[in-house]
Amino acid sequence: MLRIVPYPHPALRHESRPVIEIDDSLRAIVREMFTLMYASNGIGLAANQVGIPLRFFVLNLTADAERADQEQVFINPEIIKRHSSEENEEGCLSFPGLYGKVRRARKIKVRAYDLQGNPIEIDADDLLGRAIQHETDHLDGKLFIDYLGDLTKMKTTSAKIQEIEAGFRAAQAEGIYPSDDEIRRQLAGMTSA
Ligand code: ZN
Repeated sequence: MLRIVPYPHPALRHESRPVIEIDDSLRAIVREMFTLMYASNGIGLAANQVGIPLRFFVLNLTADAERADQEQVFINPEIIKRHSSEENEEGCLSFPGLYGKVRRARKIKVRAYDLQGNPIEIDADDLLGRAIQHETDHLDGKLFIDYLGDLTKMKTTSAKIQEIEAGFRAAQAEGIYPSDDEIRRQLAGMTSA
């Protein structure tokens, strides 16, 4: 069973490897990721947020499990164009309860593969563009807190991050997660879904 891992689980700083084959195992992970995402009212979830070091993410901007027609899967995504920028508020399922303003490209062009293995190319702006940039960052081990600026000057934000980190360390002490070193070994050893 997969779970959404909170910061600072080492998978979140791991640079994920490309997906080589879209098989039943990958499709099962995708299904489970959508279920976890809906349970947390999220609109996007990257594979390394459930501890899988592969380059794909799922999106449903409606956050509504009943709207399966709005589900999108991006495999091996590449943002090939970025145009101008704008700031907007973001959150992340690996940082429950934390929100912050992040500057990102206003319009992007992304290339990826869908779950059927078909190449897709999408021009995206607004929420879709922002979500794609946020999730693609995850696959490179990049997090939205990296954009928030000097955290030492942001008391509420840094207190919230410390609270999330303390939660992860407590779960680790209870044996829910292995040690950071063990997690890193597991991430390095996973070669396929
Ligand atoms: Zn996120």
